[in-house]
Amino acid sequence: MNVTAFHDVVLVGGGGAGLRAAIAIAETNPRLSIAVVSKVYPMRSHTVSAEGGSAGVVRPDDSLDEHAYDTISGGDWLCDQDAVEAFVKEAPEELLRLEHWGCPWSREPDGRIAVRAFGGMRKMRTWFAADKTGFHMLHTLFQTSLKYTRVVRYDEWFAASLLVDDGRVQGVVALELMSGKIEAITAKAVILCTGGCGRVFPFTTNANIKNGDGMALAYRAGAPLKDMEFVQYHPTGLPFTGILITEACRSEGGYLLNKDGYRYLQDYGLGKPEAKPVLRSMELGPRDRLSQAFVKEHEKGRTIETPYGPVVHLDLRHLGEQLINTKLPFVRELCLKYQNIDPVTELIPVRPVAHYMMGGVHTDIHGATPLLGLYAAGEAACVSINGANRLGSNSLPELLVFGARAGRAAAAYASSAAEPRSAVLAQAEDERRRMQRDLLHKIDGRERLAPLRDELHQSMEQSAGIYRSGNSLAQAAVKLRELQDRFRHVALQDHSRTFNTELMAALELSFMLDVGEAIVESALRREESRGAHQRTDFPARDDQRFLAHSLVYRNADGSCRVEYRPVTITRWPPGERVYGR
Ligand SMILES: Cc1cc2nc3c(=O)[nH]c(=O)nc-3n(C[C@H](O)[C@H](O)[C@H](O)COP(=O)(O)OP(=O)(O)OC[C@H]3O[C@@H](n4cnc5c(N)ncnc54)[C@H](O)[C@@H]3O)c2cc1C
Repeated sequence: MNVTAFHDVVLVGGGGAGLRAAIAIAETNPRLSIAVVSKVYPMRSHTVSAEGGSAGVVRPDDSLDEHAYDTISGGDWLCDQDAVEAFVKEAPEELLRLEHWGCPWSREPDGRIAVRAFGGMRKMRTWFAADKTGFHMLHTLFQTSLKYTRVVRYDEWFAASLLVDDGRVQGVVALELMSGKIEAITAKAVILCTGGCGRVFPFTTNANIKNGDGMALAYRAGAPLKDMEFVQYHPTGLPFTGILITEACRSEGGYLLNKDGYRYLQDYGLGKPEAKPVLRSMELGPRDRLSQAFVKEHEKGRTIETPYGPVVHLDLRHLGEQLINTKLPFVRELCLKYQNIDPVTELIPVRPVAHYMMGGVHTDIHGATPLLGLYAAGEAACVSINGANRLGSNSLPELLVFGARAGRAAAAYASSAAEPRSAVLAQAEDERRRMQRDLLHKIDGRERLAPLRDELHQSMEQSAGIYRSGNSLAQAAVKLRELQDRFRHVALQDHSRTFNTELMAALELSFMLDVGEAIVESALRREESRGAHQRTDFPARDDQRFLAHSLVYRNADGSCRVEYRPVTITRWPPGERVYGR
């Protein structure tokens, strides 16, 4: 097999985490050659769609300890506190660095960086660039990465597997979408920055490309996935499309109303309607609690039925046209274009929607996985700073802090690691043949992709949604095993090489089946309720048994094994989560 190229470090993913890591590698050791492999052009990565903002302590009335505490209590004490301490310290430094690279943060009239309130954050510390924060951050990282000539981009290349030999990761096998060629890109280290996996659920804010690819790549190569049972539902997605209506609407003072026009969150221990300032408002409770309140409200018959499921209303009318146009212009645009309503004068229908993955590839505080030469950062990774429930606006700074950390660690490792061995080329050749035999050229399979994907979606929604039970999870576990079996009999209808999107969809579906299984198996074993994981059969948090991270490993026969490891507690012993006071 031809080797397309050898690099010192291969980054899989050109989103926020991937580009930040690329810059960190180039700055750590300018001699290293860096490949950025991305299945879409980097500026189309999901980071571009982040709206609300990026948290980092910047005001004198705030402190790193308060940001750490909000993150830890928001995560229901499942966060590793050493990681959180590093995170809150480095987040403002990273945001400032981005400013120096050209990120146009919104400002106060006196020139200071503007900050807004965000859910579960008790101080104003969320930096923003209007409501297009992710666009501006990604643009800044992209243009900065162009300065480094040692960064080589493989745009529209799809990483299909990792090359592992002699106990260390030594590159990837990747498919060039334009030509259909399948080649080895070898390296001394690989960093997975492939983002989340919202697409394992049918109703999600996540772009079509978020299929958990990197999680499955690591899992198949022998690295464990951590805390996969924790899936975040965002309380305000547009019905039907799942398009996100940012939390910034509520931090600017928006209300959530049930079918009677009542601010129902006051019934769920999240505060009182008259609470001031907006930081204390019940609408700015954490996402897990708000999504759970929606389900309860629905059970009481107080939501509004629509052809696309039950909804409540987000009310921005009292904010006025001027504020909406300056602080939330994208929200107005989305509502007009996709829902045909104007939030200046009309209520926005919203419902909870699968949004973010707290779990991911298990890494240490430097982004290293237990597999030598393999690193991960961003939403694909689990460090973990998010615990059982991420606070809104902590993900964007996480990409920067841990993207940079993973980049530096991989650069240090690659600076002295051995060259890839020739054995990996034979492995890559096997993988190429397997992809051609089992997928591209197979004509006699009886299964099609779409029904398998629909059944996966149905199973995940019914078992691993906002509320879960042992029975539904056990049924889903059996169903997912069946889908894994049936996937072996898939036949594609498109056998061409150029931009074969069906082949890509097949690879993505096989990744999603692995990720779906990891979610269901770890949710089944966690017999407690914590953060975003709510078991109707075990409604209480159980620190005795489950103040621990789950680690899912893949067995040789393809089934899962779940183990646990302790949570790192430094200064904040487990306590009660209190909001609205
Ligand atoms: C609509 C929306 C709004 C959000 N708003 C906010 C917010 O305001 N604040 C906040 O903190 N967080 C927000 N988040 C969360 C945050 O944006 C994401 O967690 C974060 O951007 C993920 O970045 P990433 O770099 O890890 O991955 P991504 O930006 O998703 O990039 C993944 C990259 O991996 C590549 N890739 C994936 N699989 C493969 C493969 N097999 N081969 C090759 N390449 C591959 C893709 O091409 C892409 O370049 C939001 C999320 C969404 C969906």
